[in-house]
Amino acid sequence: MKRRNTIDGLQQAISPQEVNSPNTLIDNWGRRIDYVRLAVTDRCNLRCIYCMPEKMRFLPRKEILTFEEMERTLRILAGMGIQKVRITGGEPFVRRGLSEFLERINNISGIERIHITSNGVLLPPYLDDLKRLGIAGVNLSLDSLDRERFYKMTRRDDLPDVMTAMEGMIAREIPLKINVVLMEGKNIEDVIPMAALTRKYPVDVRFIEEMPFNGTDNGKQRLRWDYKRILEKLKESYPDIYKLEDPPASTAMNYAIPGHLGNVGIIAGFSRTFCGTCNRIRINARGMLQTCLYGDGVLDVRELLRNGSSDEEVADFFRLHIGQRAKDGWAAEKQRLKVREVSTSMSTIGG
Ligand code: SAM
Ligand code: SF4
Repeated sequence: MKRRNTIDGLQQAISPQEVNSPNTLIDNWGRRIDYVRLAVTDRCNLRCIYCMPEKMRFLPRKEILTFEEMERTLRILAGMGIQKVRITGGEPFVRRGLSEFLERINNISGIERIHITSNGVLLPPYLDDLKRLGIAGVNLSLDSLDRERFYKMTRRDDLPDVMTAMEGMIAREIPLKINVVLMEGKNIEDVIPMAALTRKYPVDVRFIEEMPFNGTDNGKQRLRWDYKRILEKLKESYPDIYKLEDPPASTAMNYAIPGHLGNVGIIAGFSRTFCGTCNRIRINARGMLQTCLYGDGVLDVRELLRNGSSDEEVADFFRLHIGQRAKDGWAAEKQRLKVREVSTSMSTIGG
């Protein structure tokens, strides 16, 4: 008999054998956790306006986990049931030695899929490495196809390099998703050209609600483009757009446009429609475990790794905190320290 999970809308079913297995991580709301997002740096070559201020104060290097510490953490998590890893940041490709790190974690038993989220600017020299390593997918952040609007969103004139990365991944058939954060007055003109990419290319283009993590004290503006308004906008040009069944634990609501090779998605990151199926944890750039995007770090993994804790002790701490997760992003935000609420940058959390 399969046990249904306890949060409304959860699609996952977990068998009693899995519940009792030391290799399955299940949180206090009955959600299976099999996915970790690892921020390998908080540094970035862009300055996206929704993510950080122009003058960003980055963490001192000694506060960032070494690659050896990250590898050890992933081995421990793999032994507990984590199967999917997403490498994120900051911009992962600004960290020297990333390719070798990917190579090493590719050999960790239990890790089945490695994904990367990148702005693409520094990615082109690594295209062949990503293909050779069998990277399961890249999420490319690209907010505009227009050079001027791209500059306004990122404060850098790097669109040509991102396009090279995009075309290089398509040519090599590296599974590709394009993430577009929508901002009133900045890139709404891009909604239809971005969605149109899916006609010619087998890529998923996902529009993301802006979330309050821009690293400034102005992080709490009213959301102007929520998922409903984004869908309305898409319907104006694509009246035949239709809903697809979403894969389990998908953060995106997925749609197809007849005749298009790829699909379109909407990620309600601000409205938080997907918490009921959340299967992920984060190790942020400070080396803290975050059990919710909207919460604070709950466990100083860096400190544990550096103070001589054994793998079993580290694993026990992970289990403890995964057993105390907030029900959803709203509850996590409430618990969050007031001072951090408006000044966190997504580059530290990793998205
Ligand atoms: N630098 C890489 C990149 O941009 O793809 C990886 C890190 S970035 C923090 C991860 C994702 O978070 C990107 O897709 C980015 O668009 C998204 N993001 C950053 N700040 C955001 C915000 N305030 N609201 C919504 N998404 C945001
Ligand atoms: Fe850098 Fe990614 Fe943040 Fe943009 S969203 S500033 S590319 S970390």
